[in-house]
Amino acid sequence: MGGTETLERPAAGRPAAARVEHFDVLIVGAGISGVGGAYHLTKQCPGTSFVILETQDGFGGTWRTHRYPGIRSDSDLYTFGYRFKPWVGAPIATAEEILKYMGEVIEENDLARHIRYNHKILSARWSSADNRWTIEAERADNGDRVVITANFLWMCQGYYRHEQGYTPEWPGMANYRGRIVHPQTWPADLDYKNKRVIVIGSGATAATVVPAIAGDCAHLTLLQRSPTYFITGRNANDLADTLRQLDIKEEWIHEIVRRKILYDQNAFTQRCLSEPEAVKKELLAGVRAYLGADYDIATHFTPRYRPWRQRIAFIPDGDLFKGVAAGKAEVVTDEIDGFTEKGIRLKSGRELEGDIVVTATGFNLSVLGDIAFSVDGKTLDFADTVTYRGMMFTGVPNLVWVFGYFRASWTLRVDMVADFVCRLLNHMKAHGLKKVAPALRREDADMKILPWLDEENFNPGYMTRSMHLLPKRGDKPEWQHSQDYWSEKDQFPKIDLDDTAFIYSR
Ligand SMILES: Cc1cc2nc3c(=O)[nH]c(=O)nc-3n(C[C@H](O)[C@H](O)[C@H](O)COP(=O)(O)OP(=O)(O)OC[C@H]3O[C@@H](n4cnc5c(N)ncnc54)[C@H](O)[C@@H]3O)c2cc1C
Repeated sequence: MGGTETLERPAAGRPAAARVEHFDVLIVGAGISGVGGAYHLTKQCPGTSFVILETQDGFGGTWRTHRYPGIRSDSDLYTFGYRFKPWVGAPIATAEEILKYMGEVIEENDLARHIRYNHKILSARWSSADNRWTIEAERADNGDRVVITANFLWMCQGYYRHEQGYTPEWPGMANYRGRIVHPQTWPADLDYKNKRVIVIGSGATAATVVPAIAGDCAHLTLLQRSPTYFITGRNANDLADTLRQLDIKEEWIHEIVRRKILYDQNAFTQRCLSEPEAVKKELLAGVRAYLGADYDIATHFTPRYRPWRQRIAFIPDGDLFKGVAAGKAEVVTDEIDGFTEKGIRLKSGRELEGDIVVTATGFNLSVLGDIAFSVDGKTLDFADTVTYRGMMFTGVPNLVWVFGYFRASWTLRVDMVADFVCRLLNHMKAHGLKKVAPALRREDADMKILPWLDEENFNPGYMTRSMHLLPKRGDKPEWQHSQDYWSEKDQFPKIDLDDTAFIYSR
């Protein structure tokens, strides 16, 4: 693996091991992005030394840390799975199934020996004199500090803080006598059987928790400020089933079904833009089919925004709506005025009583893993940089961040960014280059500099709350994360590594 080089002492904490290991590449995080990156590195850059550092005590990221009842994907696993490993189950998968799939990738490709668990990275310092990053991590198991150096940082740390979800502050919360639980930190001992439960939220998480627990609760209220769009359907893929009947190889099925799903999704996204009203009607008709003619869909399931401005969650077999139709879950659309001792007081004046309140209210965005970055002794604020295609940052050397898609499966971009990183690493090696950082080109001098995301295009709360922390974008494809898989899939392989947007040095 890596070499052993200089002596170094960390800034604080217990002393690091005297010898500092060095790697060509350090991957941050062993979620679906980091494990995918490691796979591609071994295949496309053989001989490259690398290590994955991971805070948790195992792989999986999102699928390991989220343990609320019913936890499952909301997009299909043919596209959420990697392009190189066939998915053979039902399209919507449980966390357990996704972890099993990732475990197979690790085992089949002998990746385990590269992963170090219980290593939380605290700081990353770039030195242009040495052309390398110095990474300091803290071990969760014994508190030791570990220092590792690397030529290149592959940031696969996702986009939100795993330790704690986002819960707004409402008046009176401290007086509430029941238990408040965030799904991201669901207590293993939470007993909701025969209890009155209020779930706050309207996104994919709320839509998953509610059908999973409603049958066991004495009463369940889904309390939302405003409704969300959902798509319903069978948790099956007809094309995959037919191809299996014909005894087609799983590798082929994976590729064909991926292409079909992506083709259909593209058509759907285009329709959302060109005829949002028609799409809206169809989505609402899907909900109506479960809830019946008399249900007040206008209040509870008709969003105020046009389809696709926020992620549309897939509800397999309409389980959420079946629960509502059966009277197991009541939907209340109102605003919270504050907590009482017994529950929640709404702005309409109504009071909801509950023994447990589940706050499915979203994430805390984490920009680059909450790691303290510096470049040549200067503290780095990513908000001062402009992003190169949502993966590199002006003035930040030898670093790529994997930020996937919201409108298509995240993992599609994991494979694509990996192809780019491997091409870049091979290019640098072939030309004896040690450092690369993007910079705005002469022709970009008058380019408009904008926030990371266009809120008109996509505006989930956790992004808009934290936009000021994120890098900036420009108005050209090179200088933004377009969230458009269908154009990026053609553009990425053609990225010219000799473009003047890349400043190299030896
Ligand atoms: C409940 C839920 C369901 C979702 N469902 C879907 C879906 O169906 N389809 C879809 O496309 N997307 C979905 N997403 C988005 C999802 O997060 C991504 O698709 C994907 O799992 C992210 O993978 P990742 O490896 O990039 O990041 P993560 O899964 O967040 O993993 C990052 C890893 O990096 C580690 N890490 C972070 N900081 C540090 C540090 N400083 N030092 C060391 N290690 C660090 C973390 O511990 C973590 O293990 C869902 C998200 C959630 C929360």
